[in-house]
Order: sequence, then structure tokens, then C-alpha cells
Amino acid sequence: MALIVKKFGGSSVATTEKIMNVAKRVLSERQPGDQIVMVVSAMGDTTDDLIQLAHGINKDPYQYTREMDMLLTTGEQVSIALLAMAFKTLGAKAISLTGPMAGMQTNSVHTKGRIVDIEPERVKEELDKGNIVVVAGFQGADEKMDPVTLGRGGSDTSAVALAGALKADSCEIFTDVDGIYSADPRIVKDARKMKEITYHEMLEMARLGAGVMQPRSVEMGEYFHIPIHVRSTFTTKPGTIIREDYTMEDKDFVIRGVAHDNKVAKIAVLGIPNTPGIAHEIFSALAAESIDVDMIVQSIRNIEKNVTDMVFTVAADDLSQAKKVVDGVASKLNAIAVLIEEDVAKVSIVGAGMLGNPGTAARMFGALSKAGVNIDIISTSEISISCLVKGSELDKAVNAIHEEFFPKN
Ligand code: ADP
Ligand code: ASP
Ligand code: MG
Repeated sequence: MALIVKKFGGSSVATTEKIMNVAKRVLSERQPGDQIVMVVSAMGDTTDDLIQLAHGINKDPYQYTREMDMLLTTGEQVSIALLAMAFKTLGAKAISLTGPMAGMQTNSVHTKGRIVDIEPERVKEELDKGNIVVVAGFQGADEKMDPVTLGRGGSDTSAVALAGALKADSCEIFTDVDGIYSADPRIVKDARKMKEITYHEMLEMARLGAGVMQPRSVEMGEYFHIPIHVRSTFTTKPGTIIREDYTMEDKDFVIRGVAHDNKVAKIAVLGIPNTPGIAHEIFSALAAESIDVDMIVQSIRNIEKNVTDMVFTVAADDLSQAKKVVDGVASKLNAIAVLIEEDVAKVSIVGAGMLGNPGTAARMFGALSKAGVNIDIISTSEISISCLVKGSELDKAVNAIHEEFFPKN
């Protein structure tokens, strides 16, 4: 007897036909005595459509984050009800539960919530009654029982967190690709599928834009020591296991993959005093609004006048809110101007192997130079190197770097 958590993403439940197929597959693979918890996303592009709907009311709907959460949580509620009905139609016992009903407690940071605790008593009760429990991903509730969503792609995190809290035997993430690849297979035709990847490397890939897993879900997997099996909804072949360490693959590689992120924007605050406390002033104001800042460069504009420029990137979704915050600080600091650039994207290489391989950065920059792609900002972490490039040149950049490290035979 095993307790299994299976998460199905939006494209896997995009139509009622697909929902029926998911239910049929799960029932056909169920072993006697298995207890099954399903975590599902909203159907297809529902979340995007709901966001569009809000834009019909206000051009900046994210200023009303609580109402956005009230709206967005409806998407997952539709799919859990339909999937539970699909199981019942096929003769199985099933029940749908919203995130809060499943015990997902979050902080109150609407639209970017974090799970603070999980009390899945109701899930356990329903499993004990023989039900397949269908839980809405991407959502929880705060202390006031207000709905809170977990950021885009948050159903991955709901699934892994629930698997951890229930001490599940396995956690499977079913999606529209059959595993984790060395780059987004939509962009790089020859990307290679991995059998395994460590939490550490997957977290870095995800953080740097590999949207196949929400970064927080990988952290949850590591925290709970749960191996995560990422696999296809549409085939039965094995996918990729995200786990602590490699068990079978050759560790002799320099990088594991190329990640990209085109949902970024660059903000430049020009002509601010080059004195202690200025960086703190700008970035603490952004942090107070829960806006993450990524690549940061401070450069000298004029040594004689002791003024400097501060350039950094934020997620495109945060741009309008970040601009408001930065405009406020910039006028206080008498900055010359605040410039915004939206046609930017980040391309990164990731891999623990680069630690022992000097020259990896030079190879990446060489590949970009050969492809004629200019680098705007560079940043590094222990196991990654990222370059900010023009958004329109992103595909070329990703393919050039991939070809350098994973040449076609
Ligand atoms: P779901 O709706 O199932 O949550 P997502 O669209 O969030 O699916 O994630 C799956 C997508 O992630 C794939 O279609 C693929 O284009 C993208 N992706 C980005 N980077 C990678 C990668 N390195 N390996 C596999 N898929 C990737
Ligand atoms: N429906 C949400 C989104 O589109 C959550 C998810 O799919 O994981 O981001
Ligand atoms: Mg997803």
C-alpha cells in the first residue's frame, strides 16, 4: 500500500476530455490499497484569462492583490470539481478539497504567498474513507481565512508540500514534457533529457527561469527529502527524478543545463549620491513591497561629483509596482532619471561541475560573442552564470550556449 501524490498541470487538464483521460489513467495505474492525492492546476490558460479579465477593470489590477487572489483561486476550483466528478463517473470514490480545506496555511503576501504550515487532517480522513482526494493547487488561506495564491506555477509547490506533510511514498509531477531537459525543449530542438538532477541544480535552473518547476517546490522537496518525479501526462515513459544526489548518471559534466527568463525588466536609477546607505534605501523600499531584485550593478557616473548609477532587474510582473517604489525613492535622492527597459531577457548556465572547471564563463561569453549577442549585465552564483541580453536575441543566445556545452554529434 502506498500513499502517492500526483500533480497535473494546466495543459494536462485543459479540456473535459483531458480531465477524463487523467482520471482513467490514474485509475488504471492504481494498485490495490493505494491512497491517492491529486493536486491540480486551473484548466489550460485559465489563470492567464482571469488576469486578462482583471485588466478589463483596471490596467494595474495587481495593486488589489487580495482581490486578485479571490479571482485567481476560482481557476483551480473549477478543475478540482470536474476531476472529482470524472472519478465518480468512472465509479471511483473521490472528493474535491480547496487548498484551505486541505490545510494549506499561508502568510498574507497575496499573489506571492508562502506556505507556513500544513495540517492535512481532512485529507487523511477522506483517504481513510477510501476517497481519491482532489486538492486545488496554487492556493491556501492566511490567518483570517482570506485566500492567498502561491505565485505562478504554485501548484508544484502545493503538491510537493502536501507530499511532505503526508509523508507520501512518492510525488509525481505530470506535465506536457516528459522530464527535465538541458534547456527548454520549446526553444532548443536538441535539448537532452536528464534521468536525474539534484535539488540544488534544479532549484537554480528553476530560479533562473526553467518554468517546468516552481523554485519553491524544489526547496520543499529538499526540505522533506522527497524525490520528485517529473514526467509526461501523455506517455507512460519514465521522466526525470529530482533528488539529493545522482545514483547512476555520470557526474563528469561541466554544466547541467541552460535556463532562460524573458519575464524580466531592467530598471536604471541614474545620478544618485555615491554615499553609504543609498543602496539600502532603494532595495529596502522594494523589499518592503515583497519585490525581489535580481541582477544588480552599481557603476560610477562621475567621480568628481561622486554620483553613481544603480541598475538592476526585477520580474516583469513586478515592474509597475517596482517603478512606483523606485520613483518615490529616486525623487527623494534627487536622481537624474529612472529608466526602464522591457526588451531584456536573462540566459544562464547551471551546473555544480563548473566549480572545478575554470574557463566555463569564458566559453559562455565566447558562444554569445560568436552569435553576435551583446551582454548587458553579468551575474554569478556558486553554480550558475547569468547574462542579461536583448529580449529579441534570447532564442539565438540560448541555442548558441547550448550548442557550446552540448554539441550535436
Ligand atoms: P504545467 O502546466 O504542467 O505546470 P508548465 O508550462 O508550468 O506546465 O511547465 C512545463 C513547461 O516548462 C514545458 O512545456 C517547457 O516548455 C518548459 N520548460 C522550461 N525549461 C524546461 C526544461 N529545462 N526542461 C523541461 N521543460 C522546460
Ligand atoms: N494556475 C496557476 C498558474 O497558472 C498555478 C499553476 O499552474 O501551477 O500559475
Ligand atoms: Mg507549471
